[in-house]
Amino acid sequence: MTSNKTDLPYFSVVGIGAGPANLSLAALLQARTDQRIALFDKAADSSWHSSLLHPGVRMQTSWMKDLVSLVDPTHKLSFLNYLVTEGRLFAMINSQFDVIPRREYMRYLAWASGQIENIHYSTPIEEVSFVEGEGFYAISGGAPVARSQHLVIGVGTRPTVPAGLSSLPDDRAFIADHLALHLPTMSSDKTAPVAVIGGGQTGIEAVLRLLGAGFSNIKWLGRRQWFQTIDDSPAANEIYRPAHQQYLQDLTRGTRRRLVEDANPTGDALTPGVLRTLYQANYDRMLEFGEYPVAMLPGRDVTEGVLDGKDVVLHCSTAERLEQHRVAYAVIAVGRQSAPVPFSAELRERLDAGEDGDLVIEEDYSVRWKGMDDHRIYALNRARFSHGIPDANLTLLPVRAAMVINSMLGSELFQIRDELCPVQWG
Ligand SMILES: Cc1cc2nc3c(=O)[nH]c(=O)nc-3n(C[C@H](O)[C@H](O)[C@H](O)COP(=O)(O)OP(=O)(O)OC[C@H]3O[C@@H](n4cnc5c(N)ncnc54)[C@H](O)[C@@H]3O)c2cc1C
Repeated sequence: MTSNKTDLPYFSVVGIGAGPANLSLAALLQARTDQRIALFDKAADSSWHSSLLHPGVRMQTSWMKDLVSLVDPTHKLSFLNYLVTEGRLFAMINSQFDVIPRREYMRYLAWASGQIENIHYSTPIEEVSFVEGEGFYAISGGAPVARSQHLVIGVGTRPTVPAGLSSLPDDRAFIADHLALHLPTMSSDKTAPVAVIGGGQTGIEAVLRLLGAGFSNIKWLGRRQWFQTIDDSPAANEIYRPAHQQYLQDLTRGTRRRLVEDANPTGDALTPGVLRTLYQANYDRMLEFGEYPVAMLPGRDVTEGVLDGKDVVLHCSTAERLEQHRVAYAVIAVGRQSAPVPFSAELRERLDAGEDGDLVIEEDYSVRWKGMDDHRIYALNRARFSHGIPDANLTLLPVRAAMVINSMLGSELFQIRDELCPVQWG
């Protein structure tokens, strides 16, 4: 690329994406150093999964897992400080939530991002390129918007649509993120059969939203043998400690992946509260109308969807047979995958690729590439199989951000302490 570097704002770090991952990094960096960081996000404002913000949805993690507290509880952007300065502390305490509303966490993020400097919304980064001796260029709207020494990728995830469902028309089969948009135009006949595909938290929240909208023939299909809840026991939570992450780093790549997959029920499952809510709502409606509005269909692997007239016919395999379900609408909630990173072709060529073709991410979250001595690239929320399940969620956000800052500055600005661990991993 041709550059005009003098006209461009220069930063120590540019972050692509201003989700919780990069917000945590910017909050900690700005509080403790004079390093300049800028974040760019394609969203119009601070909105955290707002398309899935159905009425009453709850967090899966404790409010203590905020942007900063795990490494710096005196930071002004703690969740507790948000509650106090916004006058919500006593109302919130007395509401006795087991886990807080997602809308509250979203408000907290908006409050925090309002106090972090240099966040640029409505700025999709289409390309990041690298010029020797100059650094990284972030390009939006066809022109560079910033130059930096280091780069942090925090682009998050996007919903997955299985190949067998991808050719169905969008007004009949759509991702759960689009359910709220489709609800007003979905059949006025609330007895129309609707399938929700996916037995995870997003799936159950879609089922509850449909129930709330009055639908009475909902088929909830999940792949696992039963609709599994999160293992939130003290022992399972040992996996969400820096000590466990450290343990994983000493293992081979293959072993790490196996252990992380085994640990899925500690994070990739339903909160017990939401499952109880569904069971009770289903029971209440059964008392009223004589039958359950939600048929729970676990152990179904939906392999294909075919349009037949106006209906969608879903083909599923179960443990021992094939099955079909004819529905008017299918809501797809089968999980998420990493969002694409907009590296330029030249920069991509300089990146090392792992066996799976993805980025090679070191223990300190730096990406292995030819140029990493002076210019670091860090990748957040893309290392689940090498760094453990916490990398894909909010539980250790500030710890990860602190590790990145320590690595970037080459000194232990943040001490990461994890003592008194009763478990000896083997
Ligand atoms: C509905 C839902 C609820 C969840 N609840 C929990 C929970 O309770 N607890 C938990 O631990 N985890 C939860 N998770 C997991 C989730 O991954 C994390 O909560 C969190 O959002 C990850 O933060 P992130 O910053 O990595 O990614 P994201 O929050 O996805 O943020 C990425 C940002 O990057 C932006 N972006 C992407 N590409 C570009 C680009 N090219 N240019 C500019 N901007 C770009 C996006 O607009 C977005 O704002 C939930 C996930 C979902 C979908």
